[in-house]
Amino acid sequence: MFLKLFLHFAIAASGLAIGNGAAAQTNILNLYSSRHYQTDEALYTNFTKATGVKINRIEAGEDPLIERLRNEGAASPADVLVTVDAGRLWRAEQMGLFQSIDSKILDTRLPAHMHAANNQWFGFSTRARVIVYNTESVNAADVQNYEDLANPKLKGKVCTRSGSHVYNLSLMSALIEHWGEARAEAWARAVVANFARSPKGGDTDQIKGVATAECGVALVNTYYYVRLAASGKPEDRKLMEKVALVWPNQKNFGTHVNVSGAGVLKNAPHKEAAIRYLEYLAGDAAQTYFASGNNEWPAVPTARLNNRDLEALGKFKADTLNVGALGKNQPAAQKIFDRAGFQ
Ligand code: FE
Repeated sequence: MFLKLFLHFAIAASGLAIGNGAAAQTNILNLYSSRHYQTDEALYTNFTKATGVKINRIEAGEDPLIERLRNEGAASPADVLVTVDAGRLWRAEQMGLFQSIDSKILDTRLPAHMHAANNQWFGFSTRARVIVYNTESVNAADVQNYEDLANPKLKGKVCTRSGSHVYNLSLMSALIEHWGEARAEAWARAVVANFARSPKGGDTDQIKGVATAECGVALVNTYYYVRLAASGKPEDRKLMEKVALVWPNQKNFGTHVNVSGAGVLKNAPHKEAAIRYLEYLAGDAAQTYFASGNNEWPAVPTARLNNRDLEALGKFKADTLNVGALGKNQPAAQKIFDRAGFQ
């Protein structure tokens, strides 16, 4: 009798355990992210609060993360990839890592140019690639456009990170779209002829080069500039005394902008939760958190920018090229840089 009762209980209990397990499985989202900002904690907990879906995070550098996804293949537990730069997201798309997502919310919330081809990935916040210059050695009037960096007037003054870096490849991809390959290549050659030094370091190193006058002018992403300009450290403020920012190409196509973006992975075990997460990221509150995390602008026009340091930069005309175009021109961009000796 006792054994019978015990067995009955054990079966019921195990049934319960399996039931719970299955239910718990659907309430999980496996997020692969190259972001690691403090504000993102609120982003995750608010999603879990609103949906009951728990987020498991795998964080790694941008390129290793994409490599990991490729290696995991169809067995990957990943549901969503979040990373930076349209060039990288496009590379992941080319590897067949994403699936197309049909979402009314994403369609209405995100501007059309934030949707990559076939809605395989989306831009959720933007950063601009701007010109910074030394106010003592360079006239603002001489650096108002990307074209100006090719002017012989700036000989020995231009600094930038490597031409094989995705930020420069994405800028070049935009220039190819606007100018065509021949003009873009002539530009690249002339910029190389104006180099103050061989490309080295990251964008912060270029700003430092401008500050110390080793460089007269440099190309950098806005969040690096904001990080130093808004820094509480006296040495950073001192560094920025002679550095000023220009929004390039305001009288024509606008300043090149890139994105932090995300897509649902092809073999996502929790597809529904994955779509919900992207839709959540397009919500007003999440937009503010997501953008602020890295001093970026929300991709959704109605979302509030709660970032004084970024607001201090003022408004500018941003290029509205489709994020997918920044991807598709990457191979041509790399070939042009190679031919131009833009290392
Ligand atoms: Fe960066």
